[in-house]
This record gives sequence, structure tokens and C-alpha cells, in this order.
Amino acid sequence: MDFAPTDDQRLAVDGWRRAVERDIAPIAREHQDAAYPKMVAHDLLQRSMAFGVGNGWVPEADGGAGLDFLSSGLLFEELARWSPDLAGVAWVAEGAALKLQQAGSAALKERYLPGMVSGDLIGCSAISEPGVGSDARAVTTRAVRDGKGYRIRGEKMWTSNAAIADLVIVLARTEADGLTLFLLDRQQHGFRTQEIPKLGLNAWPLGQIELPDIWVGEEFILGEPGRGLRETMKGFERSRCFVSTIALGIAQAAMDASITYAGDRVQFGKPIAGHQLVQSMLAQMATKLAAARLLVYRALWLMSNGARCDQEAAMAKLFATEAAEFITSQAIQIHGAFGISKAFPVERHFRNARMLTIPDGTSQINQLIIGRTLTGLSAFA
Ligand SMILES: Cc1cc2nc3c(=O)[nH]c(=O)nc-3n(C[C@H](O)[C@H](O)[C@H](O)COP(=O)(O)OP(=O)(O)OC[C@H]3O[C@@H](n4cnc5c(N)ncnc54)[C@H](O)[C@@H]3O)c2cc1C
Repeated sequence: MDFAPTDDQRLAVDGWRRAVERDIAPIAREHQDAAYPKMVAHDLLQRSMAFGVGNGWVPEADGGAGLDFLSSGLLFEELARWSPDLAGVAWVAEGAALKLQQAGSAALKERYLPGMVSGDLIGCSAISEPGVGSDARAVTTRAVRDGKGYRIRGEKMWTSNAAIADLVIVLARTEADGLTLFLLDRQQHGFRTQEIPKLGLNAWPLGQIELPDIWVGEEFILGEPGRGLRETMKGFERSRCFVSTIALGIAQAAMDASITYAGDRVQFGKPIAGHQLVQSMLAQMATKLAAARLLVYRALWLMSNGARCDQEAAMAKLFATEAAEFITSQAIQIHGAFGISKAFPVERHFRNARMLTIPDGTSQINQLIIGRTLTGLSAFA
């Protein structure tokens, strides 16, 4: 097993870091306290897609950057050090583009994929509902046959990118078939969205989608009718790995800020970095970060090599997101009272990290996935 970054990957990350620092971070910083306006999101995505972030998983033959998952993950991790919000927007948009590329008809792909891999169109995926969270099988949004299409009624909640999305992939219950994926076009189908105020990652839009009674032609189905849940579950392995790369980036930013602050802040006549208990905090943070990184890279490496990695992705997501919460909390401790003030970045890192133990399988759900693999017994049944 070898998931050490290659020379090409290091070069790509270095070039990307320079571009982010110069062209992306200043804009992202200006907009980090409220959901990106749509124009800003398009601008940032177009800049990041020039480096394969937001379109990297789509093969080159279909207009994407055609990156393997480990190479892509390294770029996402780097972006998340500077802007976890943009990393989130790009990751969700990229997931929607990949779903269309893999499961869409030739006509749908021809119509939408070029826009999705250039940043002109922003996509998202809507599974969760007010009453449906960890148990995606319980989706209640209905799609009822009506002529050559379906009438979709329901409400989706916690949908990343909702307010800026041109396209939403909706998981809905079709009568006899089970759950089916539909691609909805905001212009053509007219769904309405509303932003939800939240704790952290405030520039990354998260919202509700109203589907009051929307007629959608059957040509907008992705994959086979009734196979939507299976398609959705397949995507969780990937999304767990990539939410983990965002956790790594946030944790690294908190680590960097803490080392700098500990070197500058003087108490009892010397920099606090020279006090043994402060070094203990830094050592524990760095060790958890290194362990998280190894777990995340292992899962990405397995995916890059076409292997299934349910357990490894669940371990990476569980450990990396909890580690990021620990590391950013310790970063506040090292900063003392300045840590909880808005004058330093670590309170933001903490709020951002706190968001990530919930999506794509909560920490509890990921433990149950690991437990199922270990024992062969499902606690979900
Ligand atoms: C930043 C962010 C982005 C998101 N993006 C999207 C998106 O793009 N699209 C989308 O569809 N959704 C999205 N979500 C929603 C996310 O998928 C859900 O929040 C998640 O699935 C958990 O569902 P819930 O919040 O309803 O919690 P619930 O499922 O109600 O869980 C509440 C608590 O009960 C625990 N619990 C539930 N079931 C069990 C069990 N069997 N055993 C033990 N404990 C259990 C959970 O771990 C949790 O602690 C996002 C959420 C966040 C925070």
C-alpha cells in the first residue's frame, strides 16, 4: 500500500496553493461570514475548476479534469486550509456532476455536463428532509406518475449549495419502484430554496428546497427507476473521504495558527510554546492530525485503485472530523481569551470543524458501519 504523494501530486498542490493564496483566498475571505452570493460562487468555482477542483472526478473525455481521488483529495485539503466553505461548495458540485456523468442519459449529459464542469452551472444533491436524516431509506418526497413524467411533492432540508444551485438531484419515492433519482433544473422546473442560518461554514450555502408539485419529464431520471437509494449509498464512500479532507484542512489551519501564536505570546517571561503543558497540547494536536491524514489518504488511495473501502472511509470520516473538532478546540485553549475573540481565526476554525461530524454519516452512523463490517451484524435492521 503506497499513498505517499508523488512528485506530480506535490507539484500540483504547490501550484494550487499559490493560486489559492493569490486569486481565491482574498475573495473567499471577503465573503466568509454569509452564504456566497450566486455570482461569487460561480466566480470562485470557475477559478478552482481551472485546477481540477470541482470537476476533477469527471473523466477528461467528458470535460472534467480526470483526477484520481488521492490527487483530488490533496487539492481539496489544501483549499480547506484557506477556505473550507469553497471546498464544500466545490465538493458538492463535483459530486453532482459525477452522478450525472455516471447515471445520466446522453441527452442530459450533453445539455448539462459542460456547464457543470466549467462552473457555469452549480449542482447539489438533496436526500435529507425535515423528518429524514440518518435513515435515508425513509425518504417521503413522492414522485407520482403523470403522463410521460412524474409529479414531485415534498420538502428537502440541509441541502448543501441549495440557494446557489441551478440543478438539484432529488431522491424521491416512486410508487412501485422504491426510490429514484431525478435531476431538476431550477429554470425549467422552478423549485424554490431558502437558506438556513447555522453555526459555522457560513459561506457554504445550506438550505431547504420546496417541491410543492413539480412536473418533471421521465427523461430527467438518473439511472434506473427504483435504484436511487443504491446509487446514493455508493456515493457515500466518496463523500466521506472528501468531507474528511475538509476536516484535515481546517485542522491544519488551526495547528499553524496555534504554533505561531504559541511562539509569539509571552507569559512567565518566555513564549508559551516553551511551557511543557502547551507543548503537550501541540503534540497531541499534531499526532491526531497525522493519524487522521493517514486514515484519509488510505481511503482515498483505495478508491483511486478502484477498491471498495466502506470501512476505511467510515474510519477516516469518524476519526478526521472528530480530530478536527479536538484540534480546533485545543487551538482556542492555546490562544486563551484571544481564542474566543473574532480577532483571531481559531474560533472560526472551531465552528467550522464542529459542522463536520454530522453530514455524510454522523459519527454514530460511521461507528455502526465499522461495527457492521467487523461483526457481520447490522445495527440498522
Ligand atoms: C454541513 C452539512 C451539509 C449537509 N449537506 C447535505 C446535502 O448536501 N444533502 C443532504 O441531503 N443532506 C445534507 N446534510 C444533512 C445530513 O446528511 C444529515 O444532517 C445527517 O444525515 C444526519 O441527519 P439528521 O441531522 O437528521 O440527524 P438524525 O438522523 O436525526 O440523528 C440525530 C442524532 O441521532 C443519532 N442517530 C441516528 N440514528 C442512529 C442510530 N441508528 N444509532 C445511533 N445513533 C443514531 C445521530 O448520530 C445523531 O447524533 C448536511 C448536513 C450538514 C451538517
